[in-house]
Amino acid sequence: MSYVKGLKCRECHRLYPTEALYVCEFCFGSLEVDYDYDRIKAAVSREKIEKGPKSIWRYRDLLPIDGAPTVGFHAGFTPLFRAENLGRELGMKELYLKDDSVCHPTLSFKDRVVAVALTKAKELGFSTVACASTGNLAGSVSAQAAWAGLNRFIFIPADLELGKVVGSLTYAPNLVAVEGNYDDVNRLCAEIAARYRWAFVNINIRPYYAEGSKTYGYEVMEQLGWKTPRHVVVPVASGSLLVKIWKAFNEFKKLGLVDEADSKIYAAQAEGCSPVVTAFREKSDILKPVKPKTIAKSLAIGNPADGPYALDAIKASGGRAECVTDPEIIEGIKILARTEGIFTETAGGVTVATAKKLIETGAIPKHESCVICVTGNGLKTQEAVSEHIGKPYQIKPTVESFEKTLRTEAKIKEDVWQTR
Ligand SMILES: *Cc1c(COP(=O)(O)O)cnc(C)c1O
Ligand SMILES: [Zn+2]
Repeated sequence: MSYVKGLKCRECHRLYPTEALYVCEFCFGSLEVDYDYDRIKAAVSREKIEKGPKSIWRYRDLLPIDGAPTVGFHAGFTPLFRAENLGRELGMKELYLKDDSVCHPTLSFKDRVVAVALTKAKELGFSTVACASTGNLAGSVSAQAAWAGLNRFIFIPADLELGKVVGSLTYAPNLVAVEGNYDDVNRLCAEIAARYRWAFVNINIRPYYAEGSKTYGYEVMEQLGWKTPRHVVVPVASGSLLVKIWKAFNEFKKLGLVDEADSKIYAAQAEGCSPVVTAFREKSDILKPVKPKTIAKSLAIGNPADGPYALDAIKASGGRAECVTDPEIIEGIKILARTEGIFTETAGGVTVATAKKLIETGAIPKHESCVICVTGNGLKTQEAVSEHIGKPYQIKPTVESFEKTLRTEAKIKEDVWQTR
């Protein structure tokens, strides 16, 4: 059972069949999945969703697959929780974290999009899948295609973090490190995609793949008790996640599953790769591509495919775009770890630091609800923080050495040393 009508050009609205297509032949606009919302409205309800599987597939009626899901049965349905400690630190009354650093199976929100993309790729008859990745997509396609028994080609920039390389290579894909940045990788992959009958999840399967990101937004609403938050801070690489969270909020409103979709959406980028922020500040509809230079490699896309649509969503929602420096990103990672016990990767450092900035400047009022998106796991980007978190105390295996070293080197309060 599917409610998909077909693909539709985002620019000229021409219709296309549900195939491995992604660009309009007439105007070169990108294609998007088109649904029959009247029929979906008759079929879905809060109760039906609540009875569904504890994964992205509880929202299956709003995803672009024809049959039952066949890949990624446990992706999604990650925790959303009140961040009391971080809230206190930032002076926020109602702060929440949506934590995809524990998404199954590869610890980033990319597991959602890949579950949808590979299920669709199988429906379309592909036996080989591929992707151009900034890191997390590489791991997720490698893992989920391994499980699904699909041939897999993974293309990454050659300077990726070790954790991302190992986190892909272990699943035995054909991992290709390209000498260049992500935008070079992506351009090469577009040429390769035109040559072979492969499903490139973020190129020729992109319309379906991108829909998987909506589940992050659906979960935020369901987990808040079928409500939208007043503010959401979203990391931006290609801009797809941001666009789809906005779409998810508006779909639930249209379907009567939430009363309001009046959230303000904020784009968070690293200063060293902030084309969306620059366009927002210059009040321009045109994004100028940049050469990325930041530790936030998962967000290092200098020419974001969905950048213009992200700008539209930010503006339509009344939000804004903001960026932070590499030292601020490191501080964001450390604040989140120290207050909430969560180790996020650089992208999470970007959203936490950007949220902090937006709160401190008054853009996000302290008495209104706010969700910060945490989209990836810190164990994959250890080099970002390893030089900034101190070192373990080195001691001999004796109590004497322990006490001597800790008493001289660590500034521990005297009452901690109370003996029994
Ligand atoms: C890919 C990625 C994003 C952003 O994705 P887009 O949809 O391309 O904007 C955010 N966070 C992490 C950790 C990612 O890997
Ligand atoms: Zn078109």
